[in-house]
Amino acid sequence: MPKIAPAASSPAVRRVMQGNRGRDTKPEQSLRSAVFALGMRYRVDCAPVRGLRRRADLVFTRARVAVFVDGCFWHGCPEHFHVPSTNSEYWTAKIERNRLRDRDTDERLSGIGWTVVRIWEHDSPAEAALRVQRAVLDAS
Ligand SMILES: [Zn+2]
Repeated sequence: MPKIAPAASSPAVRRVMQGNRGRDTKPEQSLRSAVFALGMRYRVDCAPVRGLRRRADLVFTRARVAVFVDGCFWHGCPEHFHVPSTNSEYWTAKIERNRLRDRDTDERLSGIGWTVVRIWEHDSPAEAALRVQRAVLDAS
């Protein structure tokens, strides 16, 4: 297995790997704006708890809610992730590791009383913001 990520094998793969760059704003920014518009305040892109070396996109410290915006490619979205045809073994293993890491993060956080909200990059920011709001209200 190569140690270095292979170069994107096609323009399509490259676009997916780069996320939504060039189109609209990035998914995390869209979600932040939508949540902010609901009057909610949060910390951005930080570890929810000290010592946990995982960063969440939005953190509600008092309610203990951590929100992650997962890219469809890197986190293996069931609807949109397709294994690239070149270096497919590398990508299958890589994305599987990412998914296991996500589940591990969820378990560590919920194990210490946190609520984890995972939003897919493809989710509508407005609907996702309501899910976040509900989680924070439920946890407060
Ligand atoms: Zn997706």
